[in-house]
Amino acid sequence: MVKLSFFGAAQEVTGSCFLIEDDKTKVLIDCGLFQSPRFSNTKNREPFPFDPKGIDALFITHAHVDHTGRIPKLIKEGFKGKIYSTYPTRDLAQLMLKDSVGVLAKEAEREKEEILYVEADVDKAMALWEGKNYHDTVSVGDMSFTLYDAGHVLGSAMIMAEVDSKKILFTGDLGNPTNPLLLGISKVPSPDYLITESTYGDREHEGVAEKKLKLERVIEQSVVQGGVLMIPAFSIERTQELLWEISDMLRNKQIPNMQIFLDSPLAIHATEIYQKYYSYLNRAYVDKESFSFFKLPMVHFSLTTEDSIAINSAPLPKIIIAGSGMSTGGRILHHERRYLSDPKSTILFIGYQAPGSLGRRIADGAVSVKIFGEDVPIRCNKEVIYGYSSHPDEVSLFEFINSHVDSLKKVFTIHGEPKASLAMVQKIRDYLGIDAEAPKYGESVIL
Ligand SMILES: [Zn+2]
Repeated sequence: MVKLSFFGAAQEVTGSCFLIEDDKTKVLIDCGLFQSPRFSNTKNREPFPFDPKGIDALFITHAHVDHTGRIPKLIKEGFKGKIYSTYPTRDLAQLMLKDSVGVLAKEAEREKEEILYVEADVDKAMALWEGKNYHDTVSVGDMSFTLYDAGHVLGSAMIMAEVDSKKILFTGDLGNPTNPLLLGISKVPSPDYLITESTYGDREHEGVAEKKLKLERVIEQSVVQGGVLMIPAFSIERTQELLWEISDMLRNKQIPNMQIFLDSPLAIHATEIYQKYYSYLNRAYVDKESFSFFKLPMVHFSLTTEDSIAINSAPLPKIIIAGSGMSTGGRILHHERRYLSDPKSTILFIGYQAPGSLGRRIADGAVSVKIFGEDVPIRCNKEVIYGYSSHPDEVSLFEFINSHVDSLKKVFTIHGEPKASLAMVQKIRDYLGIDAEAPKYGESVIL
């Protein structure tokens, strides 16, 4: 008997958490924070729908907080097993979890709630956490788990569980095949069951050439208009890809000479981890001998508050890349307060904007927004490039599922808004003739 339960990211994009169990063993895949519309949704305070003391091990697909953010809670409530992920995921997750403590503290104070976890809880998690390489297999009871490159962010892994001679593949978040920095989605043995993300199950992205061209056009326009180009970016992957692409355009004189500011301590520290694990990156793209993010021309790393404030007086044209990626906090808010009302400036969205987030409201056409208690009218230009998303679009996701059509008995689409998850379910049923379902929170199936 293999039982699979969906305890997060079921018809929504955050809170990833799946339980797989046989008669003797219980293993969790991911234990993420519910993050919409707040950084920490009130749902995170509800008790786990299982006993954390009874969980034997936890596997983490990648470092994003919506896949890791309930780990400290799991430990507080009695989990004593091992946590496994790749080495870069372990490093990045430590950085992301420690960073989230500050955000949680501010939110808890504002909402007059108790904080979800503190730094000491993160340290306890790290003490249980063991790094692994891709293709390593870990046995837990009669189950075994193997990690394969998911191409989503540095260190991201798909996890293949083998239980009762059934192969069950958890994709975690998959990568966008047009991402030049990473090696992409690895080949895996044919799975019987697939639990796949479906973030963009109903949308196509731009291709490699098109997205670069569009970025070039947005930068050029911003220079002509004589304003600032703001790019709210997630600290892992999008930021590093952007730094690399924009520097490349500068080197090839495709865009006028201008300064680029990476205004995010979190993104700067994440970039250090990318540098440390550069052997995980696509070496055809980054030159092994001389490669350094920190030597990219025209890029300034604004670590301190003084560095950040100094950006205001830097001459135009300039590009500011800052977090958070959905404008739910971070230094981007200071730049948005300053420049959203400026018709010469531009805000460029390159990542998923969750419903309810400030980023989503701006992208959806709000006339004005409140930032730090101030009404800020939106008069700047708005641009969107989906091609820099670190998720596959509908076409590449379908191709990935199709590549396993011969072995698959059933596909579960998770990690998507209902519209996206259900669109992919319909496509799998109609075109591949495979049973598919977008499970609901708390649903269990016997495989
Ligand atoms: Zn992710």
